[in-house]
Order: sequence, then C-alpha cells, then structure tokens
Amino acid sequence: MAVDLNNYVASIPDYPEKGIIFRDLSPLMADGEAYRQATDRIVQFAKDKNVDMIVGPEARGFIVGCPVAYELGVGFAPARKKGKLPRETVKAEYTLEYGTSALYLHKDAVKPGQRVLITDDLLATGGTIGATIDLVEQLGGTVVGCAFLIELKQLNGRDRLKGYDVLTLMEY
Ligand code: AMP
Repeated sequence: MAVDLNNYVASIPDYPEKGIIFRDLSPLMADGEAYRQATDRIVQFAKDKNVDMIVGPEARGFIVGCPVAYELGVGFAPARKKGKLPRETVKAEYTLEYGTSALYLHKDAVKPGQRVLITDDLLATGGTIGATIDLVEQLGGTVVGCAFLIELKQLNGRDRLKGYDVLTLMEY
C-alpha cells in the first residue's frame, strides 16, 4: 500500500533562521518502507528515459540519487562544494540570498552524449539544481530529468527549469 510521504517530513519553524520552515526529510529516510516507495517513484519516472548516469548535489542529493542509481543499474556522480573533489573539475556558480556559492563535478564524471538524471531532496529557488544542470551540460551531458522529494512552490524554482522534465513527490 502506498504510504503518504508527507507523514515522514518534519517541519521545523524558524530553522536555520527566523521565517524559514525547514523541511527535514530524515524521518522519511529513516523509514525503510517510505524511503523505498519514494525511491521507486523516481525509478518509475526515470525508467523510459534511458538514463546513463545520475548526478546529485551534496549532501542530500546523494541520499535521493544513490538508491535510484542502484535500482536502474547506472552510476552516480556527486556534485560537491569547493575543495572536496580531488581531480580535475568543472565549476558552476550560483547566487544565494547573500553572495554566491559554487558546485564542482569531476571532468570525467559525465561523458559527452550521456543521458543524466539529476536528483536532490528539495527544490527551493532552483539555484542549486541550476548549477548542477550547468555542470552536466558543460561536460556535454543531456539532462533528461530532475527529481526531488519536495518542491517549495512559493519560491518558483520551476521557472528556472523550463524545458526540463521535473518530478516532485510533495509540494509545500
Ligand atoms: P535552492 O538552491 O534554493 O533550490 O535550495 C535547494 C537546497 O537547499 C536543497 O538542496 C535543500 O537541501 C536546501 N533547502 C532550501 N530550503 C530548504 C528548506 N526550507 N528546508 C530544507 N532544505 C532546504
């Protein structure tokens, strides 16, 4: 039976700062059945897309993407913050509320022409995922879909993802 994934999201007001409601997915990941059902729904979304590779930004993009990669029988490549990847990388910057940040991907993580699914826990403004798409495209990969557990509708992250196939399992 399908579980209601919303029952596995803890909402914490004013964390990490006043006015933000933090959507904590650790209850979902701590529950074998909820985690499996969330993973299965992303696997279904990806199934007909001939995915070659999954890329997810640190750190919760790994938790969402790795079981999907395992189930599809494809590889996973981590997009990471500065100083975490030991070999040659490509870089993509994105804007935060104050200032900018950057994500990096190993240059050989994606081969030209590979079909890539991108995963993360939550779509907010879309900055993180925009940078992850940029990294994949710099390497000549084709982004065939972006999958998230949660979408924060008010922040309009989808506007940045026009033209991409986007799956979100829950909306807030
Ligand atoms: P953004 O780049 O604005 O789309 O932010 C997405 C990233 O920030 C995701 O990887 C989330 O892990 C994290 N994030 C942003 N807002 C929240 C929130 N309200 N609750 C939990 N995580 C968040």
